[in-house]
Amino acid sequence: MPIIIAVSKTFSMEKITPLLDFGHTHFGENKVQEALLKWSDYKLKNNNIKLHLVGKLQTNKTKQAIKLFDYIHSLDSIKLAKEISKQQKIINKKPKIFIQINIGEEPQKSGINKNEIINFYNSCKELNLDIVGLMCLPPINRDPDSFFSEMKQLNNKINLKELSMGMSDDYLIALKYSSTFIRIGTKIFGKRS
Ligand SMILES: *Cc1c(COP(=O)(O)O)cnc(C)c1O
Repeated sequence: MPIIIAVSKTFSMEKITPLLDFGHTHFGENKVQEALLKWSDYKLKNNNIKLHLVGKLQTNKTKQAIKLFDYIHSLDSIKLAKEISKQQKIINKKPKIFIQINIGEEPQKSGINKNEIINFYNSCKELNLDIVGLMCLPPINRDPDSFFSEMKQLNNKINLKELSMGMSDDYLIALKYSSTFIRIGTKIFGKRS
């Protein structure tokens, strides 16, 4: 069964608590600062909550991010990999990590190029990172089928278990390609303003 990450970015805890009360445990945020303000107290009170950082992580926020988040979906550079490696040792907490792949090779998007994935993955292993899978944001306004299919193949090639792909508009297609974590915002919380 895939895990549904309720992406609660921009929504207040007032909008989020009904899901917590219902028993939902996986939530996603895209900004470290916003997540700290919203989730710190709730995480202390309820250690079933699993928090996912789905947005870009600036190196200087790595320490705060590791303290708060259980999963980081956006590992996109060797510089960040080294910083996570250093901080997870200091904090003594190892987050589960997805390597973000720039699957459409778009210049404006972050992520590792698919041709570099094997080398990058091996470097992460040497740095003692807990890499659980790959993540992508396919190009918008294009059929995501071929991109998700390629992601599945890449994941199999390096023998990773988890795949973070699929959002409100394309999660059904992502599930066809064995996505294990779908990241849903709008279809759960409504439109963001
Ligand atoms: C906002 C966001 C989502 C959720 O998007 P929706 O289209 O609202 O479901 C998923 N993944 C990432 C990385 C996001 O930033």
